[in-house]
Amino acid sequence: MADIREMKKVVCPYCGTPVNTFYVKDAKCKGVFFKCKNKKCAKQFELKI
Ligand SMILES: [Zn+2]
Repeated sequence: MADIREMKKVVCPYCGTPVNTFYVKDAKCKGVFFKCKNKKCAKQFELKI
């Protein structure tokens, strides 16, 4: 189990709304997409770490 204090929350790069996803600072990913929960924004973005 990773230490929760080491985890970062994924936020929308357009409006800053947090998504219910966390990642550790040494995580690596590619091709993972999220959709912003903010109805005024609702943009889809790729998680790049
Ligand atoms: Zn957004």
